[in-house]
Amino acid sequence: MTTEQKIALITGASRGIGAAIAKTLGNAGFFIIGTATTQEGADKISARLSEDDIQGKGAVLNVNASDSVVNLVKSIQEEHGTIEVLINNAGITKDNIILRMSDEQWDDVVDTNLNAIFRLTKACIRGMFKKRWGRIVNISSVVGSMGNVGQSNYAATKAGMEGFSRSLAKEVGSRNITINCVAPGFIATDMTDQLDEEVRKSYEDHIALGRLGKPDEIAAVVAFLCGDAGAYITGETIHVNGGLYMQ
Ligand code: NAP
Repeated sequence: MTTEQKIALITGASRGIGAAIAKTLGNAGFFIIGTATTQEGADKISARLSEDDIQGKGAVLNVNASDSVVNLVKSIQEEHGTIEVLINNAGITKDNIILRMSDEQWDDVVDTNLNAIFRLTKACIRGMFKKRWGRIVNISSVVGSMGNVGQSNYAATKAGMEGFSRSLAKEVGSRNITINCVAPGFIATDMTDQLDEEVRKSYEDHIALGRLGKPDEIAAVVAFLCGDAGAYITGETIHVNGGLYMQ
């Protein structure tokens, strides 16, 4: 890591993988802005960061609303400075088989998981241009590569995110900005808690390491990409899935 404290914005840092990324990047010396959809969630993030002696705070953000994104980025810039690290982590699932999938289920997932990364990236990248330094990490999913029954909406957003990242990596590489994806397998969070025991067991049977991953195991790879050691990696998707899927 560089010694100068850089500002990292992490969407969806109230729980799960985002909370682990906030902690790991905070411990690595970044100033953390972690977001939640409610003020209560944002306050909890601030409290957690303070307990862990990490500099930073929680903030409210709805990634679906352009004005929420633009206002947050503007207020961070005015109060703290340029956002140099953006972690697009917030994401949702609304699973259904195609014949039963509603327009709403499709649209909500596409808006939260894919349209939002365009909004956030566009809002943050001008500052990175000026600094001639930036790191963007988009949290994808193994499902974007291997597919999954009932997740055509979710898989489409994650595959789209990876194509977006490769294109942008070419577009902004000359400004010393890297864009990468980290694609988790099945990680123990609220998202996978929704799985019933039988489905969970069947996933475990297909994971070479025989267990679900931990949020910290994703956060460590994100921190690697944001640090000096990851400086020459861009346009990549790093799979972290315990051997569930091997390309
Ligand atoms: P999670 O525990 O369900 O947490 C989701 C986070 O996203 C929460 O912080 C939530 O905020 C936030 N969020 C949801 N909708 C939002 C919106 N409209 N605007 C802003 N923030 C919003 O999820 P997770 O399991 O940690 O997953 C994090 C990322 O990893 C997602 O992109 C997911 O697709 C990906 N991933 C997860 C797994 C897994 O097995 N868990 C596997 C592969 C990929 P609130 O707390 O305020 O609701």
